Amino acid sequence: MIGTPLSLIKDILRCPKCFEKLVTDSSGSILTCQGDPSHSYPIIDGIPRFVKREEISPEDAHWVFDYDETAEDYDRSVLLYNEWLGIDLVKEFKKAMRKFQSSLLPVSSMYQPERGT
Ligand SMILES: [Zn+2]
Repeated sequence: MIGTPLSLIKDILRCPKCFEKLVTDSSGSILTCQGDPSHSYPIIDGIPRFVKREEISPEDAHWVFDYDETAEDYDRSVLLYNEWLGIDLVKEFKKAMRKFQSSLLPVSSMYQPERGT
């Protein structure tokens, strides 16, 4: 799988449980919440996993399988288009992500909760 260019988005990722900033460990394989270190998420194939496999109900498991299959088909298609078009779509995606990231405001400038109310 091609995977998400995590280095481009890790600064805007937030903990889904408490919305604090997430940081990677020294191995780069785990995202840990700065607000509560017990909130941690593995990074598998460059993709943060915010839902643990064991938390997925058997009724929903087929959706995960279908998604993974579709994602792998998509990745294969991207590689074929890369060859066919003679361009590197992953490189173009990373360039677009950098442009998008630079257009974002820091979260702290958008959310200023009033204290004591
Ligand atoms: Zn957290």
